Amino acid sequence: MTLKVLLVRPHVILKVAKRLRDFLHLEPLALEIVAGGIDLKHEVSILDLASVKKPEKIFMHALSVYTPDVIGFTGYSNQAKAVKELALRAREWLPDALIMAGGIHATVAPKDYLSCTGLDLVIRGEGGSAMKRLFAEIERGAPIPEDEVFLHARSPSSQSMAGRRPPPLPDWQAVPQPRRELVDRSDYFCIWHGGPGEKLPTLYPRTAAMRTSVGCPNRCNFCVVHYLADGKYLQRTPEETVDEIDSVAEEHIYFVDDEMFINPRRCERIAQLLLERGIEKKYVSWARADTICKYPELFRLWEKAGLSLLYVGLESLDAETLEGFNKGIEPDVNRRAVKILRELGIGLHAALMVRPEFGEEDFARLREAVDYVTPAEVTFTVFSPSPGTPLWEKYENDFICPDPYSFYDCFHTILPTTLPLKKFYARFAQLYLAGARENPWRHNSVKVPLKDFVHFIYSGIRYGIALRGIYQDYPHSS
Ligand code: SF4
Repeated sequence: MTLKVLLVRPHVILKVAKRLRDFLHLEPLALEIVAGGIDLKHEVSILDLASVKKPEKIFMHALSVYTPDVIGFTGYSNQAKAVKELALRAREWLPDALIMAGGIHATVAPKDYLSCTGLDLVIRGEGGSAMKRLFAEIERGAPIPEDEVFLHARSPSSQSMAGRRPPPLPDWQAVPQPRRELVDRSDYFCIWHGGPGEKLPTLYPRTAAMRTSVGCPNRCNFCVVHYLADGKYLQRTPEETVDEIDSVAEEHIYFVDDEMFINPRRCERIAQLLLERGIEKKYVSWARADTICKYPELFRLWEKAGLSLLYVGLESLDAETLEGFNKGIEPDVNRRAVKILRELGIGLHAALMVRPEFGEEDFARLREAVDYVTPAEVTFTVFSPSPGTPLWEKYENDFICPDPYSFYDCFHTILPTTLPLKKFYARFAQLYLAGARENPWRHNSVKVPLKDFVHFIYSGIRYGIALRGIYQDYPHSS
């Protein structure tokens, strides 16, 4: 029996998330891994609707041309509405297809999907290993399993299981390799700023996404990772990691690990192998400030191996605010990390966080933090509890939007703000502007093609306007 499988990354609905794609658009790695779990005798296609103009039309066209037997959606919580709408359309068009949803939202809030009549199956946890099991059962004609991973729509026992914690992470060996060839690789890029005086052929090089570890032992309270991974940390061996880096065609690699540098010895070995094997690529990754301060030599080695930019969740330079995030990091550690990266010549992407209860003074303090961390790429998010976590349940009665899942994008507050929403987002956009003015690209006098320069400025202005206008997305905005 050969089945036709369509795996779909849905579109985003809110304007600010769409604008963000002008700067970073990574391949649907999760779906590529899911595809890797399906035996090659089946026909698999990936439909990426994340940045297309008419997603519903393209989706319906794919259904009519491809007529899949199995349709699988992935998605974050802010894409759940789109998943449910597409699933209903698919159910009408192909009533006999097996329609399923997996991904983060299915894992943290399965009940939300179980009530959708377009879906048959909600898959929790790691999707690649789940696919191996699902297709093995289908191939031998057995009923689809119903357990902590596979929840059935319209089944009372699945409803009761949906209230439990996410299933444990599988062993790394059970996670399949991504099938990267299933997407058009020319679609995916990340802005790359370059070093002082560098002349870049493009500001938007093709970029491959790669995962070398999963999970994180830390407990930042705004983050869903420890809830999903239950404090576990799965790691790929340095040898396998470097083999994969070597095997992808792209010269630019974005590591999407939750926290790549948790195990310094593993990461040191990866960098050594990259140097020994003469692999010359450029890398972006995330790291914690305390890891940078503790192991500066590790990052010196990585700079030699090609690390261009580190995303660091600094969140704040204020002790009380950091404590409120349960970050386990002092402001001084954040400051030292900024200095170390500057000395090492590794670019900094500083992620800072605004709290809904921020008043004018708090915004002014964060503005001072921007002055300290720049020149750097600087981004801002708004503190929100993650769906499915105990913090979400704690605040559930306080949410200010009718569909909090759709608004969970780290830009839209789902909690009440102290400042009126319009003023709150005006201050939020001002922070972004302050950061944009001190962009490393400007400071480094990097030369890029004129069309990329124009596109970047245009995208930056559109993004700033979208941030300032976020308050209009709320009913009765003022
Ligand atoms: S924010 Fe980063 S360090 Fe904190 S728990 Fe999440 S992954 Fe770990």
